[in-house]
Amino acid sequence: SRRPAANSVVRPDFKFEDMGIGGLDTEFSAIFRRAFASRIFPPGLADKLGIQHVRGILLYGPPGTGKTLIARQIGKMLNAREPKVINGPEVLNKYVGQSEENIRKLFADAEKEYKEKGDESGLHIIIFDELDAVCKQRGSGAGGGTGVGDSVVNQLLSKLDGVDQLNNILLIGMTNRKDMIDEALLRSGRLEVHMEISLPDEKGRAQILKIHTTKMRENNVMGDDVDLSQLAHLTRNFSGAEISGLVKSASSFAFSRHIKVGTVAAIDENVVNMKVQMKDFLSALD
Ligand code: ATP
Repeated sequence: SRRPAANSVVRPDFKFEDMGIGGLDTEFSAIFRRAFASRIFPPGLADKLGIQHVRGILLYGPPGTGKTLIARQIGKMLNAREPKVINGPEVLNKYVGQSEENIRKLFADAEKEYKEKGDESGLHIIIFDELDAVCKQRGSGAGGGTGVGDSVVNQLLSKLDGVDQLNNILLIGMTNRKDMIDEALLRSGRLEVHMEISLPDEKGRAQILKIHTTKMRENNVMGDDVDLSQLAHLTRNFSGAEISGLVKSASSFAFSRHIKVGTVAAIDENVVNMKVQMKDFLSALD
């Protein structure tokens, strides 16, 4: 049976605007259409059409562009269990000799719940960050030539193929280097939906700036002169993570304007009325 797990249906109250993701609405809706639409079909329709639920997706693109953010929001949208997050280099280095055991553990809870509850099981999401680290590109010998990377990939493959009857697992792989990902992992039935998450364009950057200054604006500590659309223009080639860093840095610049360094360092009394101004953002940009 390929009915969706009862607890994995898309939450009807879920809105992209509320997710705190800037500029990736097109990507998000493409992922939704390609990977999750079958989960909102009326019962039985997916079966009739011979559609199997997607069990794995790959998000790829530069660092700090919101891949982890999207993966977590997908989990919330699908009402999934708290995702398990694992990281490629960690699998290889931190637990030398235990890599396969760690992969086995990752899937264990989902397998156990599926045995007990079948399709009534909740959806389990596994986020595999820096997946390229465990993939060897033909002959490169990931894992220091020890073959550990190989065995991790094989273990993942066997889990993904093994979950054939399990409707309750979704593996989200992430990488900055799609070219490094083992072809075998990308085949149908495995990480079959691939989505590029690229650097935000100006409109996306404006949305990200808006998201990351929400608190500032709500707490009335953002100066009236701050021009977010100009900042969006000035932050060409910035990733979402860098924009978030810029906002934090602007706050520090605003604060440091109130530090008086004399015989004793002190903070002036105006600090309570402090605002983060455009000049602070520009200093941060500098
Ligand atoms: P990496 O490849 O380095 O793991 P990533 O693509 O997974 O990076 P995230 O961890 O999702 O990037 O992003 C880091 C932080 O940057 C997020 O927690 C968020 O604060 C901010 N950020 C990145 N992209 C966006 C975005 N599109 N909208 C809002 N915030 C973003």
